[in-house]
Amino acid sequence: MASRILLVEDDATIGTVLTSSLHGHGYDVTWERTGACALARATTNAIDLVLLDLGLPDLEGTEVCRRLRRAQPGCVIVILTARSAEMDVVVGLDSGADDYLVKPVRLAELQARLRAHLRRNEAGATAPEVRRLGDLVIDARRRRVTVAGQELHLRPKEFDLLDRLAAEPDVALRRETLMSDVWDAHWFGSTKTLDVHVAALRRRVAETAAAAGAEVPRIVTIRGHGYRLELGDSGPPHTPP
Ligand code: CA
Repeated sequence: MASRILLVEDDATIGTVLTSSLHGHGYDVTWERTGACALARATTNAIDLVLLDLGLPDLEGTEVCRRLRRAQPGCVIVILTARSAEMDVVVGLDSGADDYLVKPVRLAELQARLRAHLRRNEAGATAPEVRRLGDLVIDARRRRVTVAGQELHLRPKEFDLLDRLAAEPDVALRRETLMSDVWDAHWFGSTKTLDVHVAALRRRVAETAAAAGAEVPRIVTIRGHGYRLELGDSGPPHTPP
């Protein structure tokens, strides 16, 4: 069955070009011009992936993103934005998006990213393993992470990144390896999205671990190389307020 894509874009020219390109690649595409129409569509129809323009005429794009995520927890959300400032990226990812593309979007890159996202989303449903690292448990099959039994709610890419790091604990993994394994096998260009996800992941794990008094591995930055998930001493002791 063709993957179902919801395109949310108010610009007629961009919408026409993207719809035509997506149809050409065999996707089942629905194009909505406003946030309200997109949300109405998402509450009644199953969707595999949303391409969401941030600058919409009726609602703030990040708010549309948050509501889409609630309506369709399993779908992939890729933000299309003309704004490349880092804060916009962070806000976009915190609102539940999996990825973003800065306009003008190159169609070849768009198609490559969509293929990678949709393939990974399908593969995630059949992964068998449960990994235990101290009080951190990653259940790849259920896509659940717990810290001392308490569930940690991660964005899809944060989960993939943690699962990838946990697959080789205490090994220094190159930035390019993480980008290609977690995002796209044919990744090229900026790895900024990796740092954004690592920062979010560290924050979420640390908050839950501190609340539970749990022992969890740390994500250590290796300058000029990448990241390593480190077991053992989890750094300076947590001081309760
Ligand atoms: Ca727009």
